[in-house]
Amino acid sequence: MEQKKCTAIVLAAGQGKRMHSKVQKQFLEIQGHPVLYYSLRCFQESTLIEDIILVTGEEAISYCEKEIVEKYGFAKVKKVIAGGKERYDSVYAGLLACENTDYVFIHDGARPFITEEILERGLAAVRETGACVVGMPSKDTVKISDENGCVKETPDRSCVWNIQTPQIFEYSLIREAHESIRKTDMTGITDDAMVVEQETGVKVRLSKGSYQNIKITTPEDLVIAEAFFNSSAFS
Ligand code: C5P
Repeated sequence: MEQKKCTAIVLAAGQGKRMHSKVQKQFLEIQGHPVLYYSLRCFQESTLIEDIILVTGEEAISYCEKEIVEKYGFAKVKKVIAGGKERYDSVYAGLLACENTDYVFIHDGARPFITEEILERGLAAVRETGACVVGMPSKDTVKISDENGCVKETPDRSCVWNIQTPQIFEYSLIREAHESIRKTDMTGITDDAMVVEQETGVKVRLSKGSYQNIKITTPEDLVIAEAFFNSSAFS
């Protein structure tokens, strides 16, 4: 199969207000390392990924360079750059920083549990249509509410997926979609696939992640993450 260059854009520029902690969630320590370390390690060790762009807050750039990239020898990290106000601003900054790449793996630095298998499945899926999101079938029934807090509808659970990252795209497709949507109102854009869904006719493939691939968002997620590390091959 034709060799394609793959770049990971790892996002770590969020404020993490829902964690109610002074330290942003991507820098909190689990098992002696910052949350961000684990996904960077996966991309660093992956045979699929050629380089990594790390997007963080302006004030955290030197911390990331010294305390994460240099300390752990993550040589694939080619740039540590400042993100933006919203997640999509940070993604766009990451896209602009990429150099001659074919596919981008856009990943939340707050998700430490990605694996090489998830990346492999995602790459196979993105080769089909040019756009792929990782996720898992929902275990819970999902309800759509109306503006009064009452149930408006119940989607068929067999069709409902909870979406994770990485989200993987042909570079030119996601860059052009972002450039186009940035000229419009972006309120409500919470992931990268939405940009492709709204701006292009390209089908976004769903690819299986894992039920462990959680995003560290609220304090109880740290307890769950510690339990995963204590019970699996992740430590
Ligand atoms: O806020 P949310 O949980 O959706 O953030 C998901 C990921 O996006 C986190 O890793 C966070 O650091 C990142 N992010 C970012 N720039 C922002 C907001 C979020 O890089 N402005």
